[in-house]
Amino acid sequence: MLDCASVIVGFTGAGISTESGVPDFRSPGSPWMVNKPIPFDAFVRSRAARIEAWRRKFTMDDHFAGAGPNRGHRALARLIADGRSPGLITQNIDNLHQASGIPDDRIVELHGNGTYATCLTCGWRHELAAIRPAFEASGEPPSCIMCGGVVKSATISFGQAMPQAQMLRAHDLTMRADLFLVAGSSLVVFPAATFPVIAKRNGAKLVIINREPTEQDVIADLVVRAEIGAALAPLA
Ligand SMILES: [Zn+2]
Repeated sequence: MLDCASVIVGFTGAGISTESGVPDFRSPGSPWMVNKPIPFDAFVRSRAARIEAWRRKFTMDDHFAGAGPNRGHRALARLIADGRSPGLITQNIDNLHQASGIPDDRIVELHGNGTYATCLTCGWRHELAAIRPAFEASGEPPSCIMCGGVVKSATISFGQAMPQAQMLRAHDLTMRADLFLVAGSSLVVFPAATFPVIAKRNGAKLVIINREPTEQDVIADLVVRAEIGAALAPLA
């Protein structure tokens, strides 16, 4: 199917990063369960919630400090480097696709990026390397040096609006695909999980590589129930 495809678009979720040591939110015993992300409205409304959110965020960062891209990331990077794929859609926030060598402008991050922060008012980018020591010294949540606004990890939290530009880019990529390759997503988080359906309706072949069954297996042309790294390694 890969050989027959002319435009391959990858779609990834947490499963592609587990081989790198990044815990999957839904796995039993995941440290995410004791460090659950704070919902967006609470973060905006409450200073105490912001403090707790930053404490949990840095605790989670320590869990996957030093995680690097694996065979699955490298395989998808190869497809893009070889010109067989115009870009990649990811639900992940771990920056490992960039670390595998894919240029930023070829990656659509539907749920943002956890390796930096932004001001919710003016959008100014803030680096964690500056925020963390200041937070740990003062216990105060960061505020924006430009406008005084609330600074938040650049991820999309529960209850936060989806990023419109990223949604449009993802839709555009999906409509170009003649092979849509889902890797490591259980396809339960919407609206992200609509893209494989859109691709299929648009005539693309749909391949789902995931350790667990998904609700979209019934519309897939091929389901590979295997570890992502092992399944994609021949491509890398
Ligand atoms: Zn600001």
